[in-house]
Amino acid sequence: MNLPPDPCFSGRFWSYVDQGDPATCWPWRAAVDRQGYGWFTWPGHGHRRQKYRAHRVALALVETPDSDELLCLHACDVPGCCNPNHLRWGTAADNVRDRDRPARRGLLRIERLARTGLQQLPLGLSSGEPSMPTHPDFATLDRHIFRVAHGSLLDNPIDADPGSNVWIATIWPDRQQPGGWGRLIWDRHPSGRGWTIHPLTHLGDVIEFGADTSTTPDRWYGYIADADETSIDLVGPFTTAAETQTDGSMSLARWRTPSPQAHGLAL
Ligand SMILES: [Zn+2]
Repeated sequence: MNLPPDPCFSGRFWSYVDQGDPATCWPWRAAVDRQGYGWFTWPGHGHRRQKYRAHRVALALVETPDSDELLCLHACDVPGCCNPNHLRWGTAADNVRDRDRPARRGLLRIERLARTGLQQLPLGLSSGEPSMPTHPDFATLDRHIFRVAHGSLLDNPIDADPGSNVWIATIWPDRQQPGGWGRLIWDRHPSGRGWTIHPLTHLGDVIEFGADTSTTPDRWYGYIADADETSIDLVGPFTTAAETQTDGSMSLARWRTPSPQAHGLAL
């Protein structure tokens, strides 16, 4: 896809995009066609006017396609969306597969966030950041220390029966996902011991531990309150993902807004 080398091109293009949070849809604010896809008209500055499909430009400005034949696929199914995190290059076959696998969409977004580095907030390993407090409303919950070695989370709070499928996932609210939660399942660590901590995991994230047998599914929910090279602290266990999310976000908000004491007032 050939974009004009004019330095004004990208600025003008993005001025028509309602850029919000990296995770939300970014609507196109200029012309759209009947299907809802945006069209960007480049005046050409003395050359021929040129019309582009807006979402293709949005992605091409971030990632050059390997071939002009590739389609620009939406992970969010919002035709006017120009958030590159919701877009990727793919074939017609990929397009069909995407339609059939809605659960894939959240993962796609997370993978792209990892690749482009947009708002990438990896665990503050040895960053010296203070650990998050537990919000007073939920202060009765315990902090559990999980051991970490070489990026692998070694401990799992679920005492699973032999033969059950045990897994760990980072989860987040996402109305487009089945059950209202997006889910990124961590890989087993290549060493064979534990689970590889996903590079996008960060403080305040809800972590779901699961063990599935043929009879009863077992779950353990907690959110990350602290981390360093050798351990991750999780506050939990909560009964539901929603409770975990609520407490985690309240604690995170409180942690990001320093208390008066933190400004050096007398204690
Ligand atoms: Zn979108």
